[in-house]
Amino acid sequence: MIAYNAGIAIVDEELNIIDTDFAFSDYVSDSEPKSFLSNVFPDDWHLLHEMVEHLAAKNSETLCFRVFREDSGVSWVVANCQKTDGNQGNISISMRDVDTLDGRNRFSIDYGTGLLDKQAIIDYAKQRIADSDEGFALCIMDIDNFKKINDTMGHSFGDKILGEVGKIVLKALGNDGKAGRIGGDEVMLIINGKTDKTGLRKYLKEIREKVECMKKDKDGYPLVTVSIGSGNFPQDVDTYDKLFNLADKMLYRAKNRGRNRYVMYNSEVHGPIIDGELETTGGIVGDAKPQDKTKLVLGTLEGFFGDENKTILTSFMQLVATYEMDEGYIFFKNIKSSFIGFKRVVDHEKPNDYKLGRIVENISAMPFAADVKFDKKFNDNGVFVVDTPQNQLKGTKADAFFSEHGIKHAFFYKMNKSKRDCYVALYNTRDNSRKIPQSDIIDFTYLSKMIEIALKSR
Ligand code: GH3
Ligand code: MG
Repeated sequence: MIAYNAGIAIVDEELNIIDTDFAFSDYVSDSEPKSFLSNVFPDDWHLLHEMVEHLAAKNSETLCFRVFREDSGVSWVVANCQKTDGNQGNISISMRDVDTLDGRNRFSIDYGTGLLDKQAIIDYAKQRIADSDEGFALCIMDIDNFKKINDTMGHSFGDKILGEVGKIVLKALGNDGKAGRIGGDEVMLIINGKTDKTGLRKYLKEIREKVECMKKDKDGYPLVTVSIGSGNFPQDVDTYDKLFNLADKMLYRAKNRGRNRYVMYNSEVHGPIIDGELETTGGIVGDAKPQDKTKLVLGTLEGFFGDENKTILTSFMQLVATYEMDEGYIFFKNIKSSFIGFKRVVDHEKPNDYKLGRIVENISAMPFAADVKFDKKFNDNGVFVVDTPQNQLKGTKADAFFSEHGIKHAFFYKMNKSKRDCYVALYNTRDNSRKIPQSDIIDFTYLSKMIEIALKSR
């Protein structure tokens, strides 16, 4: 079996071998090489020359290249290259065989895209974290509506697209990072050093734009687009799992906000990360205390139509808090991307306290709203109240959504009868929550109508 540890070699600036360990001699095909390059796949020689150049300005660098093995095979290795303490200019190259990590044999190049394969890019990312000498950005990119591309243009066209996207990514990254395919149409990118917004944007913008220009349909619209999410090591989070999670969440946002875009994590916009988890809320809303219901209705009227010009956001927040609902949303243009949302934040130490947080991620879009069976449930006032989800939602797409999100009771208001996209949705998710009282339903209807009018007039 091929060894995991591919050994260490000490080289000078011309990559001449100064010394090697036993593991190196056992691993490589030429066990007593004069030049380090005699064991390296020629296409990858430039990577080592570039590494020597980079080490003039920094202390270490991690790179992947192919090595001729003692058993005449070729393997990808991950190598950590460091300046040695002693002789100025000497470099220690410590290699690990990527194909045999975890004792499994794998290909490290994904032949569909020309990028690294899943394990190789994950190993690379983890190695970069272990080295922790330089910050980097981890990005996750996913082709938009790739299923549709396959369905309409054929699977082999889809394959071609994957290859072309791979090339665009490789070209954009150059020597500044690595990319690997981690799923069907999903790619992970590690971009080294360029962790500030401007630095990172250059790469993501180039990829997004080049993919968009790649193929157009007969009307001139782009056929292929990508969405990308990113997070930074070490400023945002400090472990691989947390970093992946963060980038994945940003990708989710990019998709939700309409695709063909990149979203770089920014704590001010996306909320803080606590214990490695991105808060789904943007912080506790201070003044969203439950208040007298009549006051709320009158205050909202006054606020919207009097001199106060109260924001819809504040009014809706007060509505959700006053009626102690667990979740509340206004979808005012499009049930996927334009919304205001609040969610009850449960403090496990004080489970009965009511606190409200702003939702920054669209976790509760209403994908089921377009279902005709669901649409038929609304009454003449544009209201649909759900007390017994299992009975009332049977046979509609909302059924699965309700059970997945644990929604026990709900109030929906459809703002514009001709349009399916504008809704007010209020949910109760607590096990002990009670049926929404009739008087509250009347209040919700008035308040929703006011929101509708206020939205129209602003
Ligand atoms: P979204 O914008 O939400 O990402 O929509 P999507 O249609 O791209 O959905 P998703 O990313 O979940 O689907 C990925 C699809 O990629 C599913 C599968 O049919 C297709 N796929 C996976 N591997 C390959 C491949 O090697 N070749 C081709 N042609 N298609 C693939
Ligand atoms: Mg996709």
